[in-house]
Amino acid sequence: MAEPLLEVKNLQVTYGSGRKAYSAVQNASFTIYKGETFGLVGESGSGKTTIGRAILRILPTTGGEILYKGQRINGKISRALDKQLTREIQMIFQDPQSSLNERAKVSYIVGEGLQNVRPELTAAQREEKVRQALLDVGLLPEFASRFPHEFSGGQRQRIGIARALIVEPEFIVADEPISALDMSIRAQVLNLLRQLQKQHGITYLFIAHDLSVMRYISDRIAVIRKGNILELADAEELVSHPLHPYTRSLLSAIPMPDPRREREKQLLVYDPAMHDYTAAPPAWRQLRPQHWVLCNDAEAAQWLAGSGTN
Ligand code: ADP
Ligand code: MG
Repeated sequence: MAEPLLEVKNLQVTYGSGRKAYSAVQNASFTIYKGETFGLVGESGSGKTTIGRAILRILPTTGGEILYKGQRINGKISRALDKQLTREIQMIFQDPQSSLNERAKVSYIVGEGLQNVRPELTAAQREEKVRQALLDVGLLPEFASRFPHEFSGGQRQRIGIARALIVEPEFIVADEPISALDMSIRAQVLNLLRQLQKQHGITYLFIAHDLSVMRYISDRIAVIRKGNILELADAEELVSHPLHPYTRSLLSAIPMPDPRREREKQLLVYDPAMHDYTAAPPAWRQLRPQHWVLCNDAEAAQWLAGSGTN
């Protein structure tokens, strides 16, 4: 039986307060199991990074709960738990151009996290760990004495991955880790993430704005739009039997390798006005095996009848 590692329950995150309050995440619930890659997909501005930062405790939550190994980690927590989380949960950022401190050497950038997590290490031991982390992500240990501007986008993202990896995390939030990279190196970085997962038994929350990559890397996928999770299922199930019209529109936007089919394909346009929720509000329902969707009764019947036609 799969063991839950992270549980997000009715999560709400609001930016600002009073008249300036902006609700970025309304009511997000999902569970990530140990060892899996959980994909969170949605267009830009849908609240993906907000959820990632709430899990990392960079952002305060305004409602709901985040549990890690069964313990609540949002709101006030003990110092011991804080220390544990700093060690066990790491983040990989979207933009390797801006997420690395330009004035620091690679050795400092990669080794920084160890100062908190493993203060007992000597400078020489830290250096050895940095060496190993660079090797683990496919970089030369000599790179330790260089500065970020000397590296390509792909190499910089590997440095970002080494920095996360060095503290031996159990859970990594990878926030669009390949979106800013050239097409030609995306597969390499994806393969690296996958290989590290196998070697170290890491669990991922993998964030992306399109489904094309997601379907290959994720075990399960949640679709988010404007701070609401609309659909959640196994990757294969979601792609072959999408239920929510928004998911269907995301899928229709994936380019097809065959140019003729690509030209003839129909783009599905999602119009949120299609939902009639005044009389019958939507609820989170399981309509197929391990496949949940936000809908009301009428939609459930209609969408189920139309599933599998993709
Ligand atoms: P995503 O990562 O899916 O692109 P974000 O989580 O970054 O989306 O943002 C979700 C929403 O919250 C967006 O509408 C964005 O404009 C808003 N937002 C993000 N950060 C802030 C902030 N610091 N202050 C106010 N609004 C923000
Ligand atoms: Mg984002």
